[in-house]
Amino acid sequence: METVMDKIVALCKRRGFIFPGSEIYGGLANTWDYGPYGVLLKNNIKLAWWKAFVQERDDMVGLDAAILMNPKTWEASGHVASFSDPLMDCKKCKERVRGDKLIEEKFGVEAVAGKSLKEIGEIIEKNKIPCPKCKACDFTEARSFNLMFKTHQGVVEGEGSDVYLRPETAQGIFVNFKNVVDTCRVRVPFGIAQIGKAFRNEITPGNFTFRTREFEQMEIEFFIKPGTEKEWFEKWCIESMNWFVNLGISKDKLRFREHQKDELSHYSTMTKDIEFKFPFGKAQKKDKFDVENLETWGELEGIAYRGCFDLSQHAKFSGQKLEYRDPQTNEVYVPHVIEPSFGADRTVLAFLINAYNEEILENNESRIVMKFHPRIAPIKVAIFPLSNKLSEPARKIYNDLKKYFMCEYDESGSIGKRYRRHDEIGTPYCVTIDFETEADQSVTVRDRDSMQQDRVPLAQLPDWLLQNLQ
Ligand code: ATP
Repeated sequence: METVMDKIVALCKRRGFIFPGSEIYGGLANTWDYGPYGVLLKNNIKLAWWKAFVQERDDMVGLDAAILMNPKTWEASGHVASFSDPLMDCKKCKERVRGDKLIEEKFGVEAVAGKSLKEIGEIIEKNKIPCPKCKACDFTEARSFNLMFKTHQGVVEGEGSDVYLRPETAQGIFVNFKNVVDTCRVRVPFGIAQIGKAFRNEITPGNFTFRTREFEQMEIEFFIKPGTEKEWFEKWCIESMNWFVNLGISKDKLRFREHQKDELSHYSTMTKDIEFKFPFGKAQKKDKFDVENLETWGELEGIAYRGCFDLSQHAKFSGQKLEYRDPQTNEVYVPHVIEPSFGADRTVLAFLINAYNEEILENNESRIVMKFHPRIAPIKVAIFPLSNKLSEPARKIYNDLKKYFMCEYDESGSIGKRYRRHDEIGTPYCVTIDFETEADQSVTVRDRDSMQQDRVPLAQLPDWLLQNLQ
């Protein structure tokens, strides 16, 4: 039985959004490659994020820091000592599991918050939580497994050359705080935004691109005056949520989840996650024809108040002063930080799921249509000549439009087939050049969602599209 997720994964492969990684070699577990439409979608999402949070604000600058950083960074940030998950092995089938996740799935996240390795082992044993693979209840003791990928740089292996692939982009921002303050005209409150890859050696990756070992983050460190954290934290929660909603994610598929006291990281006193309803539940056969698509809430973004933890730690470990002098009052202080941290791949996945629609048409035919917000749709306009005989004027229109929009020219197959293909890619507008076009200097523009067709004069076409693609 096919679940909604099975259908979305299949569409992603069939239509060139997301392919299994290194597939011709049999793949590499839980790696995924973005295909021609996937990369366009992801880039559009990253651009929309950058536009909303950097371009359209006066209090944000951008950064692109290196993935490899001085290893002291990760001592200062606490990642060497405590960025780990409780790893357990099933003694029967050797499956590796995350002890905290086993408890979380059964009793909710509150049941595991703040629990030690020993307590995690005890809860699993006492409640006879079974191995997800073989259903036995016999695990090794829980032990701490550091999630950072270690590698070495240079030609000599050994001491001094060990480096980590960054497990988050945030620390690249903190170590550049002084550079940004010294060189750009920023004044607290201000933020630094960055988009980039992060790596975590996850024990249980899975659910398509939801949890992978290599992923991309879109992070902001927003520096504020101590005492203003409540106000800024609230503002960032609202602005983050609005960003998802403004790009078309239904409100009923989004929620805030506030971290309870014992669930908070050591450096944070306020954290909220924005979660999306993912259709990850296992297919359950109610009867032969019915599949229940259980939904689970999954984190898209974490918004955390981190106090002055990071800047203070880096000041301590580097011996550099990481402070701010208020130019008006001359007051010197270590700024506090609100961190909105978005996962780019999870966001792409949420937009794919949100866009997926199956529709029955009037003639009883069905269609699959990806209803992306026009701003993130991979292809904005498809250009079709009604017949091969019209390819010359059609190509001319295509060559004009592609200067402004990501376009695709398509002349093969029936118009109906071409519409279906672009419905599945999520192209908002299809422009057809027909035998009237030359005489009336107009084309037919078909709307993806309503399937309504409008006659638009050629001279107005770029403006018409520009207006409707906002
Ligand atoms: P989770 O609890 O799901 O492991 P996290 O709380 O560890 O996530 P953060 O450290 O807050 O995640 O990272 C910020 C964002 O980065 C997350 O909201 C998520 O969107 C994304 N992210 C984190 N880990 C992964 C991963 N393994 N694969 C894909 N995206 C990830």
